Formats: sequence, C-alpha cells, structure tokens
Amino acid sequence: MPSVHIIGGGVAGYTLARELVQQQYSGTITISDAQGLPYDRPALSKALQVEPFAPVAWYQQHGINLIQESVSNVQLPTCESDWLVLATGTRPTLLEVQGAEHARTLHTAADAVALSQIIDAAYFGFQVVVIGAGLIGAEFASTASMLGAQVTLISNHPAPLRAVIGQELAEQLHADHAQRGIRTITGTVQSIAADHVMVDGERLEANLVVSAIGVKPDTTLASDLGLSVDDGIVVDPHQRSITNGQVLAIGDAARHEGTKRAVHWEAAMEDAAQAAATILGTEPVKRSVPWFWSDRHDMHVETVGDFSQIATTVHRYNRRGKLQMTFGLDAQGQLVAASMIDGGLMAKAVKRLIARGIAPNINDLEDPNVGPRELGRN
Ligand SMILES: Cc1cc2nc3c(=O)[nH]c(=O)nc-3n(C[C@H](O)[C@H](O)[C@H](O)COP(=O)(O)OP(=O)(O)OC[C@H]3O[C@@H](n4cnc5c(N)ncnc54)[C@H](O)[C@@H]3O)c2cc1C
Repeated sequence: MPSVHIIGGGVAGYTLARELVQQQYSGTITISDAQGLPYDRPALSKALQVEPFAPVAWYQQHGINLIQESVSNVQLPTCESDWLVLATGTRPTLLEVQGAEHARTLHTAADAVALSQIIDAAYFGFQVVVIGAGLIGAEFASTASMLGAQVTLISNHPAPLRAVIGQELAEQLHADHAQRGIRTITGTVQSIAADHVMVDGERLEANLVVSAIGVKPDTTLASDLGLSVDDGIVVDPHQRSITNGQVLAIGDAARHEGTKRAVHWEAAMEDAAQAAATILGTEPVKRSVPWFWSDRHDMHVETVGDFSQIATTVHRYNRRGKLQMTFGLDAQGQLVAASMIDGGLMAKAVKRLIARGIAPNINDLEDPNVGPRELGRN
C-alpha cells in the first residue's frame, strides 16, 4: 500500500496530513513527533497557550498513525509510491555567553507551559529579562508584561526588525515597548547568572531570563540521510529534495533552491499544500506573496512582500500622527512590500497589488482615507 511518513507535527506536517485526507489519499499516513499531539506555535508567545490543530479523535477517524517519537534512524523510500516527508522545523539559536544555561527559550509547548507556570506563581515585582527583540522576544515581553512582570527587553539594535518590516515601523514598534512599561536596552549580553544578566557592564537583576535570538533549521535527520543541506533542506519547486526525489521537505526546515528560506506560518502551509500535490500528482500549487503577522501589546502587525527588494518607502500616518503603514517600492515604483499596524483588509489588498506588479499612486499610499478597495485604482 502507498505510504507517506511525515516527520514533524508542526503546521507543515499537520497541514500535509489534512490535505491528503481532504483529497482522499488512499495510502497510509504516519506522523512522527516527539512532542505528541500536533499543535500550532503562534499562540505560545502571544498567550503562553498551547493550541492543538485537532483532537486525537480526528487522527483516529482518518486512520492517521500518530507516533510520539523522535526519529533518528529512518530508511529512504525504495519505491515511487512511498514518501518520506521531513517537516522538522527549527530549533532556537542558543546564546554563546558564560551562564547561557540560565536562559530559557520559548519554542515548544513545554517551554510555554513552564514559562506560564513560573509567571503565574510570581510575586509582585518579578523581574523578567528577555534577550532578543525579534518577533518572538517582543511578543513574549509583551505577554509577560501584561501578566504583571517587570520586563527588560535587550536588543543589539534600536530597530530590531528593520530587515523584515522596514526601518521606520521597526523603530516605532520597538520604542512603543517603553510606553507599555517595558524597559528596553540596546546592548550586548556579556554573561548570565541565576539571578542577573550583565549587559555592557550593567547588572540587571533577573528572576527569569528568556533568550529569543533566532532559530536555525533542524536538518539533523536530512544530513544523516545524505540529503543536500544548505541553510535548510534544499528542495525544488515540488518540495522534492534535490538529492532524492522520494523525500520531500516542507516548512521552516526546507529552502527552495535559489531563494531565501521562509520561516513563517503561511509559507509552511503552502509548502504542505504543494507536497500534497506532488504526492497526489495534481496541479502545482500557486504561491502567494509572502505574509506574516505578529501580535504585541494590543497591536496586530502584518508584513507582506519582501523588504529586501525595496528602493524607496512611503509612509502612511494615522489621524493621531502615528506611523501606521510603510509601503516599499522597487526602483520602478512597483509595490513590493508593506508593513502595517491594525491594517484590517489592507494586507490582503497589498498582496493582490504586489502579485499584479502595480505601481500605486504615492498620494493614495500616504492618504489614510484611501481604503484597501480604492488603493491601486488610479
Ligand atoms: C513562539 C512562536 C511564535 C510564532 N509566531 C508566529 C506568528 O505570529 N506568525 C508567523 O507567521 N509565524 C510565527 N511563528 C513561526 C511559525 O510558527 C513557523 O513558521 C511554523 O511553526 C513552521 O512550521 P513547521 O511545521 O515547519 O515547523 P515546526 O512548527 O517547528 O514543527 C516542527 C516539528 O518537527 C518535530 N521534529 C523535529 N525533528 C524531529 C525528529 N527527528 N523526529 C520527530 N519529530 C521531529 C519538532 O518536534 C516539531 O514539533 C512562530 C514560531 C514560534 C516558535
């Protein structure tokens, strides 16, 4: 009987299984993940909550074998109807300073549960130091602060997310932390101890230290199998490993040959949809313009497109004079990226404009009265 063995039950692995079920795949489906019931990660940093994709009954109902194991030894498929799918995701990058073992990370359900228990049991004045102010660090800092902790957020740059959301919005969002009672420090961590962190000679008292300095693709298994790995498992547009066509790689662990590796939720889902098309022999999936979101304090931040492609930026301010949207244009004036706070339907509209290669009117981009439907009409 044909078979698909998916290693990794993150959004990529789970979505592939769901797509195969929906498209009535006739073979056996197995998901192996040491972490057990597949769950979604975004809620971990936004609410310290664990959100399973589906109950155990769903897997039973569809005959999916759910194996709680960390796979370290697996055979390559030997026939064309058997598929091995690596959906192994990422691992947190670890700090390389003295005392780094005192810092926790926030990457798994177990991490979120542990941090939630620590913060729930905390007393008044509990001090949390967060190292790294990227998407996860900023979200966790916001969550910990809302739960009553005194938070210090350390970044090595005053605009930590500038490369992915644009300089100006990155600066504003980072500066916003201070208005929500979070102390921000730009500096370099020198060492960590059980009760403090040293940053550029300053001692910061800490009851809890969380490090969020980035992630690396988990390619251990792929390397062991002799597959091509270069900042991710290198795949073709069909998600096939360029080394072995019966092995697919999807999600954060995979990188399409000739492109940058995507590390976002929607991209992982699209990889999974494409893997299903490859397995079922159906039409290739149309890729959408990259998009991701992040929630911090009471703000919903969305980014569309690719800020590394921009030549100029156009800003839109809200009626209170705060930057609400940054649009990135390429050298020809075409829209190639945008970031926004509480943009409503604007992200979807921008996706469409980028896909169509539109060069919108600059005044329209700047004008807060021009809504998503009107943008790009002139
Ligand atoms: C805290 C947090 C918040 C996030 N928030 C957002 C957000 O707001 N917006 C957004 O766009 N993206 C967000 N992301 C990123 C998004 O969640 C990832 O892009 C997505 O999870 C990638 O899915 P994946 O299935 O490729 O990998 P993962 O979700 O990392 O899952 C990989 C799974 O593979 C398993 N695995 C690895 N090796 C093995 C092995 N050898 N054997 C068995 N199992 C194995 C792991 O246990 C893991 O469960 C967030 C990520 C984190 C960690």
